[in-house]
Amino acid sequence: MEQKAHILVVEDEQKIRSALRDFLEFHNFRVTEAVDGLEAQRIVAEKLFCLILLDLMLPKISGEQLCTRWRRDGMQTPVIMLTAKGQEKEKVTGLNLGADDYITKPFALEELLARIKAVLRRTDPARAVGLTFKFADLDVDIAALKVMHKNQEIEITKREAAIIRYFAANPNRVISREELYKEVWDETMSELGTRTTDMHIAKLRSKIEKNSADPKIIKTVRGAGYKYET
Ligand code: CA
Repeated sequence: MEQKAHILVVEDEQKIRSALRDFLEFHNFRVTEAVDGLEAQRIVAEKLFCLILLDLMLPKISGEQLCTRWRRDGMQTPVIMLTAKGQEKEKVTGLNLGADDYITKPFALEELLARIKAVLRRTDPARAVGLTFKFADLDVDIAALKVMHKNQEIEITKREAAIIRYFAANPNRVISREELYKEVWDETMSELGTRTTDMHIAKLRSKIEKNSADPKIIKTVRGAGYKYET
């Protein structure tokens, strides 16, 4: 079963927020709402989204401030800014601050949908990484489920391929077990999930690391998760 893409709608105007929710749910997205900047900040710290629709003018913390903070913290979720007419300067600033696109209110919902789809296509990590790529000193072939190290061929499972692909798409960032489990297994974290994640990482390390007791490719970040550095 295909998982619905989860979108966070950050908008203080109730009418617009509800209209966006109805429209996006009709188009098979899952929607979470935030009514101000503070709430958005809290929700983003707890959950992962495929995309964030972020109103520029918000109570408590502005959309600009939020976007700056998120990007500074390494959050890579695509952001589409919702701006009002006459905020031309802010629009440009918004993009400089790391927004992926913007749309001016009032906008046609179909236009917004087209923008959302375009941004999601552009930022889909699987597309960004592709099916063959370098992972540290390894050559990965996702379709063939093979990793080449010098002239040695290592077979990997589909799950291991998905793990490698996720790390390759998110380099130099700490990936929590919870995030990895959600992205690779598509499930919410549980005690079993923690064990499953650790077991798979251990098994993968035994295949690709020179010394799995001292991993250099997928490193452990104590108390936080794992990291692939480039
Ligand atoms: Ca507003």
